[in-house]
Amino acid sequence: MIAAPYVGRFAPTPSGPLHFGSLIAALASYLDAKANSGQWLVRMEDIDEPRCMKHADEMILDTLALHGLTWDGDVVYQSRRHQYYQRQLNALLTQHRAYYCNCTRAMIRQHGGVYPGTCRDENRPAEGAAVRIELVNPITSFTDRVLGQVEITDPHALEDTVLKRRDGLFSYNLVVVLDDIDQGVTDIIRGSDLLTTTATHLSLYTMLGKAPPRYGHIPVASVAEGRKLSKQNHAAALNMQTPVRNLCEALAFLNLPLPSSISPRCVDDVLQWATDNWHINKIPQKMEIIVAAEESTYHT
Ligand SMILES: [Zn+2]
Repeated sequence: MIAAPYVGRFAPTPSGPLHFGSLIAALASYLDAKANSGQWLVRMEDIDEPRCMKHADEMILDTLALHGLTWDGDVVYQSRRHQYYQRQLNALLTQHRAYYCNCTRAMIRQHGGVYPGTCRDENRPAEGAAVRIELVNPITSFTDRVLGQVEITDPHALEDTVLKRRDGLFSYNLVVVLDDIDQGVTDIIRGSDLLTTTATHLSLYTMLGKAPPRYGHIPVASVAEGRKLSKQNHAAALNMQTPVRNLCEALAFLNLPLPSSISPRCVDDVLQWATDNWHINKIPQKMEIIVAAEESTYHT
């Protein structure tokens, strides 16, 4: 058991219905929270509104409820929190810990796609500029609850990441960290495709003077090596007629298969057994697991 209080969360982007890959992430974070007598929050990561799909939030919430994944408190929507993000951003700008940058994508590409800090001390005008953090002492290693000691070699973990884009959208990296701080999140269980961004997030926590949460990165479900099951590769929505089977398949993926001696009558039976038998160190220490399309409820 992890020392109380434990606050976990699931934070989907409402860009489409939940598929098998997102159910795995939801289930793992839910079970870890429940096994540690914690709270489990749901947050809609709809900051990048052009990517979002109308009513996808309702579909996601209906699907979670159908699978017995009941969240605590109100669902938070990032799209309703612009003023909060802007206040935090203004504070960083005033303290000279963030700066305006008007470099173009093409200019950054000339540096191999990693931003070299060109505008750091240039006092660029705010007009049409992005805002970047001035990252001092970037963090590139951390202890992960699933993977153990992790070293990030991706040079993007070292760059002054964008906090607000030139088009005025707040960046994912900024809002995720601000929301997790604001919601008191202590534990994050999510897909290992986000490992590099975790390094960036840890650096942001340090810059903001906040204690970071614990992280556990689970393998992502892929249709082929390096091809995560996602909306982009047309992962099908979960079959809403088979929630018990969906949960059992997600548990098997997490290396916690329901014993054949147990015949669950409902999702609550499955979740109760899984909570009682949850051990995070059973999760495979892998970046991805290839799932065979015919074995599950999705198609590529
Ligand atoms: Zn620049």
